[in-house]
Amino acid sequence: MPNAAAPSRKKPPRRAAARAADLDVDPQPPRAAGALADAEGDDVEARIYRAVFESVMSQRLPPGTKLPEAPLCELFGVSRAVVRKVLQKLAHDHIVQLRPNRGATVAVPTREETQQIFEARRALEAAIVRLVAERATPADLKALRAQLQAETKVMHRHDQPAWARLASTYHLRLAELSGNPILHRYLVEIVSRCSLIVALHQPPGNAACEHDEHEGIVERIARGDADGAVALMDRHLRDLERHLMLDKPAPRKDLAHLLGLG
Ligand SMILES: [Zn+2]
Repeated sequence: MPNAAAPSRKKPPRRAAARAADLDVDPQPPRAAGALADAEGDDVEARIYRAVFESVMSQRLPPGTKLPEAPLCELFGVSRAVVRKVLQKLAHDHIVQLRPNRGATVAVPTREETQQIFEARRALEAAIVRLVAERATPADLKALRAQLQAETKVMHRHDQPAWARLASTYHLRLAELSGNPILHRYLVEIVSRCSLIVALHQPPGNAACEHDEHEGIVERIARGDADGAVALMDRHLRDLERHLMLDKPAPRKDLAHLLGLG
């Protein structure tokens, strides 16, 4: 690993143990439906990837959090080589930033990146929704409605982290139903990066998706109204971006606070 971010000398185990307790990664998190299509093996690298990914998505590891190698090695009982490989994959997927001599941190998207991510997401989801409107079977629509019912239940329980997860899953489910695995794969990356942005701008677990709009999109798909579904999805994503970027700009002290964590 030529661009490994931290020295390879082993740290004393007692120090690693102390830091492992501070690193809020669940070694065996619940599986994310629909997400991580290419990381769902049983091998240890996939397991670590999923654990860090899930912790970032559920905002247990906020943007800017340091991810030192030693506690990760200890948490998962693996070598530094394995942890580095996983961190590099997470960096490749823009979940983690690797900086020489400074180690790995949870990525902090810039304002410019945020605008680019949302622009790309609107283009992707417009294509996805149009394909779903053309291709969705009655069974697909039934599954989508079941998904919406699950969202409603979780909302009524005020279970915000679960709701944030389900809101993302709704978008990924649509991507699956498009029947185009490439569009799905790109959306997994984009939605992950959007979740990082939400984590920067919202209190933990807060989901910016409007449940009613999710329902409206499904109803338009069910009617075969592709243009209507695409238009509503576009509005839904623009509202999400505006909500994050204008209504609730991240205060400077919050960002500093986030960057100081870990
Ligand atoms: Zn949504």
